[in-house]
Amino acid sequence: METRVRVAAIVVAGGTGTRAAGADGVPKQYRAVAGRAILAHTLGRFLDHPEIDFVITVIHPDHRDLHDAAVAELSGDPRLLAPAVGGATRQASVRAGLAALAALDPDLVLVHDAARPFVSAAILDRTVAALAESEAVLVAVPVVDTLKRADGEGRVADTVSRERMWAAQTPQGFRYRPLAAAHARAAAEGRDDFTDDSAVAEWAGLSVRLVEGERANVKITTAEDLAAAEERMTIERFARLCDVRVGTGYDVHAFEPGDHVTLCGVKIPHSARLNGHSDADVPLHALTDAILGALGDGDIGAHFPPSDMRWRGCDSAVFVRDAIRRVKERGGMLAHVDITLVAEAPKIGPHREVMRSRVAEICEISVDRVGVKATTNEKLGFVGRREGIAALATATVRLPFSSTESPERERTCSDSQPMPAGPRG
Ligand code: MG
Repeated sequence: METRVRVAAIVVAGGTGTRAAGADGVPKQYRAVAGRAILAHTLGRFLDHPEIDFVITVIHPDHRDLHDAAVAELSGDPRLLAPAVGGATRQASVRAGLAALAALDPDLVLVHDAARPFVSAAILDRTVAALAESEAVLVAVPVVDTLKRADGEGRVADTVSRERMWAAQTPQGFRYRPLAAAHARAAAEGRDDFTDDSAVAEWAGLSVRLVEGERANVKITTAEDLAAAEERMTIERFARLCDVRVGTGYDVHAFEPGDHVTLCGVKIPHSARLNGHSDADVPLHALTDAILGALGDGDIGAHFPPSDMRWRGCDSAVFVRDAIRRVKERGGMLAHVDITLVAEAPKIGPHREVMRSRVAEICEISVDRVGVKATTNEKLGFVGRREGIAALATATVRLPFSSTESPERERTCSDSQPMPAGPRG
């Protein structure tokens, strides 16, 4: 049986990207879009693809810290190699990436711009497949706009035929050894003016085949591109997390002699304290159960038994964070929480905004996704007799589609896809 073709990707991130850089001067590939650096989005597309065996990033020598922060979330993936340090030109940077791959000697190499985070699995499929027949391939789209040449003073000099014109994108794919040889020869002959790898390959006499790209595979260049990418990534993220669940939680703790209570992580002076194994933060216990309920993953007592001395006097934020960790482990996000406190005293109103902020901080969500409300019990029942405090909580959790259904099911929900079968039992 034929051995599998080994495919490496070089992601070129050496630019200083001034056109879309922010006021802080951070180059575009390190700017966050939908909560994640553009470079991390791009690397993720390659690491998610089953045919890519290694990915190496080529960075500017001054950007090591920016790079490390941007890709920290991916650093556990052994296929992501340590970055190579690039040169003064794109050509020199790709050469550095090729040199760093020499020991691995892959069969194929795909060279890609860090600022093209929308590269699709279909493009990668087509690029790798085309390399079975060709030594070099270029992802490109046909030019559809009419082309005008300007005279340098804002006037049209002439109209350029768009017939047989293609706009080059990346990745550009090559058999590794011929591309490495072409780059080495160009460097040896003092040629440093090639703006893409296809141009190096063309110069070296390789035949470069066109592969259909996608208009969506844009290179983020301007501030406008950055804003459009933010919107698109955010919508895609929410579309992916379309398994929306709501969990509820309820908790009660009794008063005992003391001088303060802790509610939603906020210490409030009071004529009594709440009895409990941990800090007895009733609303955070209810919230933990709400999040666990949305996951169908037991309850706070199952995960943090009161018999375990580790949780004695514990800050209840620990329980909430553990429940959120379980959400993240399943690829999901906490979208919203709502808490209702039921107490005759102390008065919650003056502390409500501090509580909301604290809950938002613990949950790592924005404060507009946190509700904190309070009511008395109209002097009825145990709460009415001031024997304790009760709390109710609701949590909305968004999970990827696949988490509840069979794993082979498509991960993204499209409008045309029927809803999954309802929960069993
Ligand atoms: Mg409790």
